Amino acid sequence: MIYATIYYNGKQEICSVDPEGNRVFLLSEFLDSEKNMNEFIEEYNDEWTDQIAFFFGTRPNLSIPLDEVKLLAPIPNPKRNLICVGKNFVAHADELDSKIFSDNVPKHPIYFTKPDHTIIATGEDILLHENITKEVDYEVELAVVIGKNGSDIPAEKAEEYIFGYTIANDISARDLQNRHEQWYKGKSLKTHCPMGPWIIHKSMLPLPLSLELKCYVNNELRQHANTKDMVFDIPALISDLSRGFELKAGDILLTGTPAGVGMGFDPPRYLKSGDEVICQIEKIGVLSNKVK
Ligand code: MG
Repeated sequence: MIYATIYYNGKQEICSVDPEGNRVFLLSEFLDSEKNMNEFIEEYNDEWTDQIAFFFGTRPNLSIPLDEVKLLAPIPNPKRNLICVGKNFVAHADELDSKIFSDNVPKHPIYFTKPDHTIIATGEDILLHENITKEVDYEVELAVVIGKNGSDIPAEKAEEYIFGYTIANDISARDLQNRHEQWYKGKSLKTHCPMGPWIIHKSMLPLPLSLELKCYVNNELRQHANTKDMVFDIPALISDLSRGFELKAGDILLTGTPAGVGMGFDPPRYLKSGDEVICQIEKIGVLSNKVK
C-alpha cells in the first residue's frame, strides 16, 4: 500500500494511492473518521493493509485523480525532530573527508536531527537563505518511518518496528555545518527537508532493501548508489539507535546520503536560485523541488 497526505477540498486528508500512482482514495472513507498521518500510523493494524486494498479495490467510484489533489509531505508535522544519520555510505564519507570532520568512515553511526520546520512537500520551493549561507547542498536519502514504539530492538526484529519508507532530501548549509562545529544549525534551516511524495508501506518493500537512489540537479545525475551499500543497514541503525532510547511510532529516520553531493566537487557545486533538484528512489517515487 501507498499512503499519502494531501490537501483536498480545502483541508488536509490522508489517502491511499493506487499502485500506478494515478488515483487516490480518502482513508476517512475506510476509517469512518478523520485522522492525520501520525494518528494513522500509531493506530495502524497490520490487517488494515489487506482490508484497505480490498475496500478501495471494490469501490473504484471513490477514487480521485491524483492531479486533482495537492500532495503534502507524507508526515507534515511529526511529533519529534527527524532523526538523521551522517556519513553512511563509504564513498560519501570519503568525499567529505577533512571537509566536515577529520574521521573517515565512522565506527558507530553519527546521529543528528532536523526540526519539523524543515519539511516541505514535493513541488514546493527550497529557500537559499542567502543572508546566512552561501553553501546550500542536496542529499538524497531513504527515510524510514517508524511504526511502533520500542527500545532495545534487536536487529532481527527491526522490521516489526517499521511502518514504511519515503524519500528525503537532507538539504545542508555546509558553511554553517563547519562554522558551528556541529551539524544541527546547518541542517535545520526552513524548507531544508523536502520529503515525499508518499510512504510505501513495508509490506511492499521487505528487508533487506536493494533500491537504487538517484539525485539529479537540472537533469544532471549527481548521486547514484544502492541502499544495500550503506555502512550501517536499516536493522543495524534501528538496533543501535534504540539502545536505551525510545523510538516512537511516526518517528522518521533519514539513513544517509551517497557520494556526489555539491561539496564533493572541486570546485564545489552548491545549489543556486532556479535549480531543480529531483530525488528518486526505485519502487518509492520521485521527489522534485525547485530552489527559489
Ligand atoms: Mg544527510
